[in-house]
Amino acid sequence: MTRGLVFNIQRYSIHDGTGIRTIVFLKGCPLKCPWCSNPESQGPVRPSVWMKDGAEEPLGKWMSVDEVLHEVEKDEIFYRTSNGGVTLSGGEVLMQADFAAELLKEVKALGISTAIETTGALPLKQIRKVLPYTDQVLFDLKIMDPDKARQIIGEKISTIKQNFEEALNSPAHVIPRIPLIPGYTTPPENLRQIRDYVTGLGIKEIHILPFHQYGSGKYEYLKRSYRLKDTPLLKQEEVNTVKAFFESAQIKTVVSGLE
Ligand code: SF4
Repeated sequence: MTRGLVFNIQRYSIHDGTGIRTIVFLKGCPLKCPWCSNPESQGPVRPSVWMKDGAEEPLGKWMSVDEVLHEVEKDEIFYRTSNGGVTLSGGEVLMQADFAAELLKEVKALGISTAIETTGALPLKQIRKVLPYTDQVLFDLKIMDPDKARQIIGEKISTIKQNFEEALNSPAHVIPRIPLIPGYTTPPENLRQIRDYVTGLGIKEIHILPFHQYGSGKYEYLKRSYRLKDTPLLKQEEVNTVKAFFESAQIKTVVSGLE
């Protein structure tokens, strides 16, 4: 049976899809977003360690589909009562597309709603493996200028758009999510490019995720510098301005949490 490298399973989440959800975090991500709140997931699909409270702690555990199913089934009552389900996150889920597809298929077979969080940074064949078993796709759109996207986060915008449009053409419900990162994704020209892109595709709802510092301590555990440690949080008025900007294009805009 296919096994996947899982670095966390988080219960009772209300930010990563509808209702109460269990989030399965898969290791591995080809990008290097400076604001990443899960820096322990970056890089290849390989177990690693960090130093926490003076002790070495493993990052990532190889698990079979059945082992993950056993964990997520414990919360089935919450899924049923809240219209929730299971969300695969990362890292970048598509780095372990075979495992993700198998797991999503089994979760769906149990009648539980499935979702993925992705930024679509891998070749199309990866997302095609998971889409048939995915009810919701929470798709991150970050920096739209191709040069800046490549330089800052290592992302190829043409690939992101291909994956996004592939998801839109699937039966899954696709919600674009925009992390609002001061100086990176918030410049008006970037937001305008995102708005133009999604309106051109008929998108009627997006989620915006205001910047937070929740992942900052992880950089210390990894002995890495965190470039955004002095970046202030957005003021409520700034978030409201972005919300109004998208809503002026008739896009329902939900302020969501945690990237
Ligand atoms: S895509 Fe997500 S997991 Fe990967 S570096 Fe960016 S924020 Fe981190």
